[in-house]
Amino acid sequence: MAAPDDAPAAKLRAKERFVVHTLSGYKIEGVSVGGQETCIVLPQLRLAFDSGRCPQRCVYADTMCLSHTHMDHVGGAGFYIATRSLISLPPPTILMPASRTVAFAAFVDAMKALDGSDMPHDAVGMEPFSKPAGYGGLTDGIEPAISSRGYRSRTTTRDARETHADGRIDSASVVSAEEGAASASKVRHEHRVSKRLTIRAFATTHPVPSQGYVAYGTKEKLKAEFIGSSASEIKALKARGVEITTTVEVPEVAFTGDTTIDWVDRATGCRGSANQSGEENGASVDGASVDAVAADALRARLLICECTFVDDRCSAEDARRYGHTHIDDLVARADAFRETGAILLIHFSARYKAEEVREALAARLPEALKAKVTPMLEGFG
Ligand SMILES: [Zn+2]
Ligand SMILES: [Zn+2]
Repeated sequence: MAAPDDAPAAKLRAKERFVVHTLSGYKIEGVSVGGQETCIVLPQLRLAFDSGRCPQRCVYADTMCLSHTHMDHVGGAGFYIATRSLISLPPPTILMPASRTVAFAAFVDAMKALDGSDMPHDAVGMEPFSKPAGYGGLTDGIEPAISSRGYRSRTTTRDARETHADGRIDSASVVSAEEGAASASKVRHEHRVSKRLTIRAFATTHPVPSQGYVAYGTKEKLKAEFIGSSASEIKALKARGVEITTTVEVPEVAFTGDTTIDWVDRATGCRGSANQSGEENGASVDGASVDAVAADALRARLLICECTFVDDRCSAEDARRYGHTHIDDLVARADAFRETGAILLIHFSARYKAEEVREALAARLPEALKAKVTPMLEGFG
């Protein structure tokens, strides 16, 4: 048995054993295998992206961002809600594409009946913060990712008004299905987790409604008029009570969910050189229609990005047809990631062995990109 002095350290080590990677200062827990399960947990932010099959650690995330509702991403959401309730954690907030809130409420209602419990949670329909002019839809056979209708289901035990961490009260937070159906204006374009953390969605391209997310933090920046001032001048200004800094948002963590590479083209306003087949979707991507949130995803300190296929058994064209990303798509747009911090690649196809993924990344990625890429390979043989 550890001596009493070692107890805190032992406790820390016990927690750390769930950490799979630490990138850009963020501890990352979870698992991601294409078609099987994807759940990424950032314990420091109490934030999870997709439920996967709900690994136990996921229940400690207070907020979950669902990229889309394929079962390998949403299947464990019921377990997530029910387990939090079971261990007396507050009802979680679950962000999702606005057009999926009705189906999600029906999904939870079925589980409520089966489980004989309340399954309290706040479901929040989100729409992309900015929708570039020119973003017209998806490839043939893939349904549109964006609908203008959404609502917040009355499945919470909380008061109908949400009090934010900063004391602000959002009276539009909880809306009944009927109210929601009649009022598309209640759909949110951003979700404020706390004073220091805001989440916005960006459009992605997949066979069902889908979106990625950017979690923004804040930092204090010296006001333009004081740049160039000496340390003693700054000190004197501070002493006089002058506000010398201003608070600015910074993209901290971005998560793409399942998607073709199109979001990068919407972020940069230009198409990658290797794949021109996107022309068939009718979207015109140019400088005038840049998606600001997707662009922020490319500047994030940590980008969690799907990359389902890494070799020629599935071509980049086929990956696009399935609504996924091929490593060649990333290679063709390598320059778009020059401002990205660390990149965690996830959602590799279950057909691969870990070594095959590592070899493919080593062989295909240009050096600058390779230096910032880490593959998530837990669960691969
Ligand atoms: Zn998937
Ligand atoms: Zn999917």
